[in-house]
Amino acid sequence: MTRPSLARMLSRAVRRRCPWCGGRRAFFTGWFAKVAHCRSCGLRWRRGDVGFELGAAAVAAIMTLGPLVLALGVIMALTWPDIAVVPMLVALVPVALVLPVVAYPLSYTIWQAFDLVARPVRPEDFDAETIVGGAFDHPPRPS
Ligand SMILES: [Zn+2]
Repeated sequence: MTRPSLARMLSRAVRRRCPWCGGRRAFFTGWFAKVAHCRSCGLRWRRGDVGFELGAAAVAAIMTLGPLVLALGVIMALTWPDIAVVPMLVALVPVALVLPVVAYPLSYTIWQAFDLVARPVRPEDFDAETIVGGAFDHPPRPS
């Protein structure tokens, strides 16, 4: 069984698709509401670990703080030494409020793509009830 490339899994992840099978809305029933496994292939978020959310939180922090720190640095560099604090806050506070909302589901799917590279899938990583026909003895093939 061949794992999809990291680039392919990341392209799926940024569209909120399952990195493994590419299923649409596979894990999410709403922007914030998610289910425990992909509704297309049965792959679970948690695959025998206890810290999946920590990785997703790290991805969310990078996705939200990275652009803010970059924009802060650029604005400061362009307006130095009279830093335009008020316009900077007016421009960046809305961004700081919107980015975490946008990043929430993507942080999970992006982290899962990296997790799938680091830890290969095993048959027990899939919810057998999701697969048509019930039980299976091998992970579904990625598409
Ligand atoms: Zn899937």
